[in-house]
Formats: sequence, structure tokens, C-alpha cells
Amino acid sequence: MDFLLNRFQIDMELNFCERKYALVKVSKYNIVFKKDDDDYIFNTLNCSLVLIKKGAQQVLESIQSNKFNKKEASDNKIFQALVDGGFIVSEELNELELINFINWKGKLNSDKLKYTIFPTLRCNCNCVYCYQGKKNNDLQIMQPQTADDISEKIIKAMPNKKSVQLIWHGGEPLLAKDIIWRISDKVMKYAGDYGINYSGFILTNGCLIDNSIVENFLKYKILGAQITIDGLPKTHNERRKYNNGRGTFQDIVDNILELQKNGIEVDVRLNIDKNNYMEIDDIVILLLSYGISGESMYLGHIKTGTNNDLNIEEYAQACVRLQKSLIKNTNTTLSLKRWFPKLKTFFCIADTLSSCSFDPQGTIYKCWHEVGDKHMAYSDVENNINSAGYYHNLNYFLYSVKDSDKCANCKVLPLCMCGCRFLKKAENVCSEYKYNLLEILKGYCGLMKPRESKDEVVFLVESNKILQEDKLNKKRR
Ligand code: SF4
Ligand code: SF4
Ligand code: SF4
Repeated sequence: MDFLLNRFQIDMELNFCERKYALVKVSKYNIVFKKDDDDYIFNTLNCSLVLIKKGAQQVLESIQSNKFNKKEASDNKIFQALVDGGFIVSEELNELELINFINWKGKLNSDKLKYTIFPTLRCNCNCVYCYQGKKNNDLQIMQPQTADDISEKIIKAMPNKKSVQLIWHGGEPLLAKDIIWRISDKVMKYAGDYGINYSGFILTNGCLIDNSIVENFLKYKILGAQITIDGLPKTHNERRKYNNGRGTFQDIVDNILELQKNGIEVDVRLNIDKNNYMEIDDIVILLLSYGISGESMYLGHIKTGTNNDLNIEEYAQACVRLQKSLIKNTNTTLSLKRWFPKLKTFFCIADTLSSCSFDPQGTIYKCWHEVGDKHMAYSDVENNINSAGYYHNLNYFLYSVKDSDKCANCKVLPLCMCGCRFLKKAENVCSEYKYNLLEILKGYCGLMKPRESKDEVVFLVESNKILQEDKLNKKRR
């Protein structure tokens, strides 16, 4: 592993001009495209985006046909910029192996612990597509003793770690708010005593927020929340209602604003299917008019397995529609930078060694979607191994980006890392980027095009921070 790590950092740090010219090739992960007569290249592995004034295709073709010699290369600004951006790489570099390495490094990283806790699977709402509560009858609130056992288990794993994040999920987790405060208090105190970074995040329907909850969010550093909206008020209220049938739209909007006012960052998830995707423009305009920031909005793909679901290509087009709507209706470009394509080191936390999910009885799972299905669990707070579910859970982790030819040959692999392992059991699910990356990139180009620059190569987005961080770490050693 050390050898690989060093090899990776050396590759990122080498000054091309000190290398033999013969040892270069064009990255497999370049996407070359034109917009408004300008040439651009995006690299999905480095996530760099450049505008090339003299024609990217021509330059890349020159490189591939060995037209550059060492002297020309070292003097050629375009060539140098393409090396810097990872568009041209060492011929020795096997990029798929590098992605495989990045993926394993991400999955094995144990510095940052993330625990998802479901203090209850009960909910005060009755959404039409909800899968929670329909798959099991055991909807109790977590007992204080279970909460203490979970706290203890988490604290035992914390020594020498850099950070710990508690993610609250449900059901509606705020129905068990005392359990949230109880576990947060213990884990946060230990983190404070030992200099470990602590944070909280909550997935909530947003209906139960009041002053005392906001105060506790601030006290227990729950500084991020995900709240879902299902369309315009009429549509939303038909789909996302309280158990008594009353619609939730206005309560949710008011509470999002209250959280934002108190400095809590809210990710506003707009859940879409065939019945409401055409409302995207109108819902964006309406939410902006309330003062909800465009930066907070993104789409959620409802997957119920029914005819109402959008397929992945339709969902990808809906994402483009959201981007266009945000571009048209907001003045800021920052909102869109937040969602610019990024290198993933793994698909989701279920893939990693340093994460797990606890249900209200303290049973432990990898995947959020399986929480509550006891036979899918692998352990519990008392360390009883569930042998039936053990290897099933291990498989969330034990995969390689090289396992399937489809992923190994896919240009968006670095942005996807093979997709959701849970959904893959049922269907072959690809990232929306497979179907919309070019259109999404063109949207960004329109936003970020520099006004005046004398350079022939203009970086609109520089390489992934993850690569830069590795460089910095090396310099610090
Ligand atoms: S708010 Fe969430 S948990 Fe509650 S019914 Fe709706 S989808 Fe299900
Ligand atoms: S594997 Fe899929 S369903 Fe499970 S937690 Fe990850 S993204 Fe969610
Ligand atoms: S799951 Fe699909 S989009 Fe993702 S890497 Fe594999 S082939 Fe590409």
C-alpha cells in the first residue's frame, strides 16, 4: 500500500519537462467538446475544465501523433496546461489502476467516522411513496439504554480518529429528539475532550422544527439538514402529508427558512417522478421567491419500482432542466459551482469501513435502505454477529472498479464509482452523468467563461482538491 501511495503522489508531482517526451499519452477520461465555437476539455478523473482557444482537438491530436518534441513541449503553454490539468498523463500511468487505488484508499480510510442513527422508524407523515414503516411493524422509539450502548460503541471507535459525524435518519428522527440529544451529548463531549472534529447532520421531513429544536441543533452542532419538497404546493400536499391528511408544504418552507436564518445549511431535495418533473421550473421560481437559495436545491430520484418512476435517462434530463432553471433564475454562479461534477472516492458511505447504520434496537447494517430488515443486518450493539447477513454486508465494501467491463470502460467512472450497490442487486443503475454530462458541462461553460484572458488555455475549474490535498500532505512531511 505504501508503495502505491508513493507511486500515486510521485505521478501527481512530477514535472513533465524533466521526463522523456515519449512517455506521455492522452488521458482516457478526457471529454472534448465545443460550445459557441470554443473548444473545451473536461477530465472526469481530475475534474479540470479548460477552455482552449486554438482548438483542443488539434492539440490533442498533435500529442497523440507525437508531433511534439521535448523542447516544443517544454515551451508550449498549451501542452503544459494540459499536463497540469491531467488531460495528458504519463504513458506509464494506468489510469484505471489509479482509480481503483483511489477507490480502495477512500473505502479503507478510517480517519473519518460516519455513523447513521435511526432513533425511530416512526413518522408523523404519510408520504405516498414511503418505504419506511411499510416493511416492518416494529416502529418503536429507541430506548435510552440502547442509545447509551450505541454511544459507547461509537466512543470506543474514536481514539486517534480525525473526525466523527453523526447522521440522524428515520422515519422522522425528531420524533425521538431526546435520544438525539442524549447520544450527541456523549459523543460530542468525548470528541471535545480528545480533540476530534465532531459534526451532526439530519435527514428530516422538516415539519417538527421549532425554537427549542433549532437551539439544540446549534448546541449539538447539527449544522446541516436535508429536507424534501415534492413539487408545487398542490402536488406536494397530495404526496407529502401529515398522518391526519393535512398538507405539509407551508410548514416545511417556513422551517427551512428558520433553519437557514440560524445558520443551519439546508439541502433542499426536490423529489421527482413522472408526475411532477414538469414542475421543476415553477418550484425553483417559487422557492427562490420565498428566499430559499438556489445553491441548496438539487433533485432526488424517486425509485418505487412503479411506472411513475423516471428512468435514468429521463432523470438525467430533469437534472439538466434544474440546472437551466437555476441559471435562468439566479444571478449567482456560486450556486452551481457547489454541484459541479466531482471525483468520488466511493459511491456512498455504505461502501466504507468507517461507517455503519444503527436501527432503533441497536442492530447494525451497512446500507440505509436495509435498516429495519433484521435479516439484512450484520451485527448489533452487543457484537452479536448475524452470520446470515455478514457476507451480504461485506459485499458493499468488497468490490473493485475493475469487476465489470462496463464500469471499467466507462468515462464517468471517476464521478460514479460503480453506482449504488443496493440498487445494483435489482437493476444495473448508472449515474445520470452517463447521460447528461456534456449538457451539464456546457451549462457551466456558459456561466464560467472568463471575460478577457490572453492565455491560450484558460482553466475554468482546476483539478480535484483531493489530488491537491495529497500533494500538500507530501510537502508537509
Ligand atoms: S417523511 Fe420520510 S419517513 Fe416520513 S412518511 Fe415521508 S418519506 Fe416516509
Ligand atoms: S448502497 Fe445505495 S441505497 Fe444503500 S445507502 Fe448507499 S446509496 Fe443508499
Ligand atoms: S455504474 Fe454506469 S455510470 Fe457508473 S461507472 Fe458503471 S457504467 Fe459508468
